[in-house]
Amino acid sequence: MSEDLTRISAAALADRLQAGDVSSVEATRAHLDRIAAVDGAVHAFLHVSDEAALATAADVDARRAAGEDLHPLAGVPIAVKDVVVTRGVPTTAGSRILEGWVPPYDATLVERIKSAGLPILGKTNMDEFAMGSSTEHSAYGNTHNPWDLERIPGGSGGGSAAAVGAYEAPLAIGTDTGGSIRQPAAVTGTVGVKPTYGSVSRYGLIALASSLDQAGPVTRTVLDSALLHELIGGHDPRDSTSIAEPLPPLVAAARQGASGDLSGVRVGVITQLQGEGYQPGVLARFHESLELLQRAGAEVVEVSCPHFEYALAAYYLILPAEASSNLAKFDGMRFGLRVEPTQGPVTAERVMAATRGAGFGDEVKRRVILGTYALSAGYYDAYYGSAQKVRTLIQRDFAAAFAQADVLVSPTAPTTAFKLGEKLDDPLAMYLNDVATIPANLAGVPGLSLPAGLSDDGLPVGFQVLAPAKADDRLYRVGAALERLLENEWGGPLLAQAPELEVAR
Ligand code: GLN
Repeated sequence: MSEDLTRISAAALADRLQAGDVSSVEATRAHLDRIAAVDGAVHAFLHVSDEAALATAADVDARRAAGEDLHPLAGVPIAVKDVVVTRGVPTTAGSRILEGWVPPYDATLVERIKSAGLPILGKTNMDEFAMGSSTEHSAYGNTHNPWDLERIPGGSGGGSAAAVGAYEAPLAIGTDTGGSIRQPAAVTGTVGVKPTYGSVSRYGLIALASSLDQAGPVTRTVLDSALLHELIGGHDPRDSTSIAEPLPPLVAAARQGASGDLSGVRVGVITQLQGEGYQPGVLARFHESLELLQRAGAEVVEVSCPHFEYALAAYYLILPAEASSNLAKFDGMRFGLRVEPTQGPVTAERVMAATRGAGFGDEVKRRVILGTYALSAGYYDAYYGSAQKVRTLIQRDFAAAFAQADVLVSPTAPTTAFKLGEKLDDPLAMYLNDVATIPANLAGVPGLSLPAGLSDDGLPVGFQVLAPAKADDRLYRVGAALERLLENEWGGPLLAQAPELEVAR
């Protein structure tokens, strides 16, 4: 057997496919074999589409052989978070209420993936309706962190991050409403990017909070994220909040950054996103990365964002408010599950109550109750209205900080991966995991997380880079530079230090 095709980056695999060294069928089969070997232990996937993936791969191979001009990523397999609708392939958003639902259409980003010829390996596990930071709120069981199977892979997109971290897929799609791409990337030693709000279409994402949701890449390298981001991003007339402008050049920025030179780049360290509540090993790796950035020529300054202190509180009013309205469509009539009351009359209202009672998990119920309360007459101004004002103050903090620095940085998450079950009964402790990621969603600015090393517990730490809206290219320039410098120190990618998973035969 030659080289293991699951271990190389998407960019390297794309080069090999273009050179004709390997076929997409071989690459896709290698990943399907890997899924068969390790996913019993990792449980990153809710659905594996073997046949469809191999059919796409064979089609791409035939088109390549015929001399067709293909997308650079054509033939590179990908996994998609189960909150993204896929025509003919079950889509549950991690919820019982959508069990058995097979969407009649594709999300825009799925259309783009398909027309570029990337075989879709399957759909990845997630917290129900993307509510959570550990993937433990999935109605279909936990996903396990490939670094330590007893630990959480982050959430809500733990399935996508674990799939990439366990070499089951070189590329994955996540969605980030409050951190669900970046925090799972941080705790699994992978790279994740939340694009500028409105730069990747939301058409065909099952909405959590429409003013915060954004889909983006999960990969093992910064360049791979740039390649995938360019593929899925850009204007879509089917999304009313889509930005009608081309993306900045992301792949070029990643390639420029890989030179490791950051002269003239101003990096702002956010005072409020460090210190209390952050694990010492997380802070130590963060500060070492700052030194590397400085050595690469960046100018590091400290910036203050005083209203970030209220970000979590504002988010947990705005998100439940929007979610309670978005989830009202799950009524037992239109999609998936339908439960009729066991006694009494079968009225629409009673069917809805029975369906939602059986179909929604505890976290979803908690947030729907919170959201409807925050939006109710008499409380609307006090809760939802105040939260929106805080949101404006956070946007102003960002504007002031970006006047002093080209990018802002912080640890991605305050701690490394915690143990499965550890925070399940303590929603507030779970929510606190997102203190550093939530401000970007409230302001619509883009953010990237990349591995910054291992904490004292031997688990991966994430380094977050934030940029102004529509300047996602800066994430890639700074991210690729830091990745290069860190890998020079480690002698290779951080993931190479992860323990090997036991392979089922
Ligand atoms: N963990 C956050 C929450 O529970 C973020 C979720 C997300 O980004 N989808 O809301």
